[in-house]
Amino acid sequence: MVERGIVIINTGNGKGKTTAAFGQALRVAGHGMRVCIIQFIKGQWVTGEGKAVKLLGGRIELHVCGTGFTWQADREQVIEAALVGWRLAREKISAGAYRLVVLDELTYLINYGIISEDEVREVLSSRPEGVDIVITGREAGDGLIAVADLVTEMREIKHHYRQGVAARKGREF
Ligand code: ATP
Ligand code: MG
Repeated sequence: MVERGIVIINTGNGKGKTTAAFGQALRVAGHGMRVCIIQFIKGQWVTGEGKAVKLLGGRIELHVCGTGFTWQADREQVIEAALVGWRLAREKISAGAYRLVVLDELTYLINYGIISEDEVREVLSSRPEGVDIVITGREAGDGLIAVADLVTEMREIKHHYRQGVAARKGREF
């Protein structure tokens, strides 16, 4: 019997959504099981997590499907990159070859109207049984939360950004 996979959502305005998703991925990969991570919206700049994944030698498959351009200036490109990522996500989920599929910052695609919440729900509900999914991003909608099994809100209590402390290599990227 296949153990049932679950849908995990890391949402909220505090820090830790993406890093928790990578922690989950590390845990799965450590057991020798396959992981696919798709990062939406974000650009192609080098991140510590991207470098670390390379060091693991293919145990975690990482796809960065963002443009790195600003939303206002390159709206068409942002949408195109997001749709390419979403197509890939559907393929990877339905393949059933991964124990875990991470859809990092997916909520923005729904919140910006690039894809519909119903479409995401459909892909999640028709996925192969054993696949765990992690979705991250602020403001996960009620419809998404309804089909999830585990939802955690990272709530900002303090953020160093408010004191003017800039993003730092190894901490924010
Ligand atoms: P992390 O990637 O560190 O786990 P996250 O995925 O929860 O964070 P995102 O909303 O994806 O957070 O934001 C990406 C980065 O922007 C984070 O590293 C975070 O520290 C930073 N950040 C989060 N909230 C704020 C804020 N209010 N102002 C400025 N930067 C922020
Ligand atoms: Mg994030």
